[in-house]
Amino acid sequence: MPRIYESRKRVLVTGGAGFLGSHLIDRLLSDGHEILCVDNLFTGTKYNIEHLHANPRFEFLRHDITFPLYVEVDEIYNLACPASPIQYQHDPVQTTKTSVQGAINMLGLAKRLKIRILQASTSEVYGDPAVHPQTEDYWGNVNPIGPRSCYDEGKRCAETLFFDYHRQCGLEIKIARIFNTYGPRMHRADGRVVSNFIVQALSGEPITLYGDGNQTRSFCYVDDLIDGLVRLMDSRASFTGPVNFGNDGEFTIRELAELVLAETGSSSKLVNLPLPRDDPRQRRPDISLAKAELGWQPTMALKGGLKPTVAFFRSDQARRSRSQEE
Ligand code: NAD
Ligand code: UDP
Ligand code: UDP
Repeated sequence: MPRIYESRKRVLVTGGAGFLGSHLIDRLLSDGHEILCVDNLFTGTKYNIEHLHANPRFEFLRHDITFPLYVEVDEIYNLACPASPIQYQHDPVQTTKTSVQGAINMLGLAKRLKIRILQASTSEVYGDPAVHPQTEDYWGNVNPIGPRSCYDEGKRCAETLFFDYHRQCGLEIKIARIFNTYGPRMHRADGRVVSNFIVQALSGEPITLYGDGNQTRSFCYVDDLIDGLVRLMDSRASFTGPVNFGNDGEFTIRELAELVLAETGSSSKLVNLPLPRDDPRQRRPDISLAKAELGWQPTMALKGGLKPTVAFFRSDQARRSRSQEE
C-alpha cells in the first residue's frame, strides 16, 4: 500500500542504477517517496532506470561518490560499489576508494543533514568463514592482501566508519550484511554464478563449475532482500545492526547448475574449471536477528526465484539481438 503523502521523504540512493539499487528505487517510489539516484554508471546502466524517467518523483545524478556531494535529502541508502568479483577487481584501488572515501562523504552528508544512513555491507566481511552458519558477532576470516581484499576490507572499513560516526557524532546508522542475491537486472557478464549459469544455459554453452562444484552458497531473491533493507531503514533508532540478510537455504553450486538446466530446459553440459583464489568454501547466513528484530524472512525459494530471473535474461537476450539489428 502506498504510504500517506505526509510521510513522503526525499531519499538518496547511491548506486541506484545498479541491480539492487534500481529495485530499491522501484520499491521506494511505490511507497510514495521521492528519489535522488546517484550513480557513476561504472557497473550500473541507464537501462535499469529507463522506466523511471517520466516519473516526476525520480531524479538521476551522474556522480562518483568518492567526491563530495552536497544535496538536500531526508535519508540515504549507500549502495554504490561494484559487487561482482570481476568488476571489483577491475580497478581495485577505485573499489577501496568507493567503499572508504565514498562512505566518508556519505557519512559527512548524513552528519550535516542529521539524517539516517544505511550501508549495503556484505557477507564478504566474513571472508572465508571459520564458523558456519555466520552470525553477526563473528569477526570474519579475511585475507588483507589478496585479490578480493579491495572489496572485503573496503566494506569492513566502511562498517568501522559507520560505527565511528555513530559513536562520535551520534549519527543514526543501519548496516545490512547482504548475502548472495539474484534476480532480474543482474548483469549478464558480471561473472556471478547465477547470471553466468543462466546465460550459458540459454545460449547452449557449457555450464562452468569452478572447482568440484561442491562449495555452497545461499541465494536470496531480490524482492525479499529489498524488503529487508526497507524494514531495517525504518527500524527503531537504537537498532544499528549489523544484520544479515539472505536466504538460509544452502545449495551446492552443482545443485544450482541443475536447477538452472531444469528451468531453462537447456541441454548444456557441465564443465569443471579451476577454483578462483580465496573462494569461500561454504556460506549461509544465520538470519535469526533479522527475524527477531525486523520480523523479516525470505519468502521466495530458489526454484521460484529462478523463473522471473530466467525470463529476464531471455528478454534481455532478445532486446540485445534487436538492438544489434537496428
Ligand atoms: P551493481 O554493480 O549492480 O550496483 C552497484 C552500483 O554502484 C552500480 O550502478 C555502479 O555504477 C555504482 N557505483 C560503483 N562505484 C560508484 C561510485 N564510486 N560512485 C557512484 N556510483 C558507483 O551491484 P549490486 O549487486 O546492485 O550491489 C549493490 C550494493 O550491494 C553494493 O554495495 C554491493 O557491495 C552490495 N551487495 C550486493 C550483493 C549481491 O549479491 N548483489 C551482495 C552483498 C552486497
Ligand atoms: N561531505 C559531503 N557532503 C556534505 C558534507 C560533507 O560530501 O554535505 C564530505 C566532505 O567533503 C568531507 C566528508 O564528507 O570530506 C566528511 O565530512 P565530515 O563533516 O565528517 O568531516 P570534515 O568535513 O571535517 O572532513
Ligand atoms: N562459480 C562457478 N561458476 C561460475 C561462476 C561462479 O562455479 O561461472 C562459483 C564461484 O567459484 C563461487 C560461487 O560460484 O564458489 C559463487 O560465486 P559468485 O561470484 O557468484 O559469488 P561469491 O563468490 O562472491 O559468493
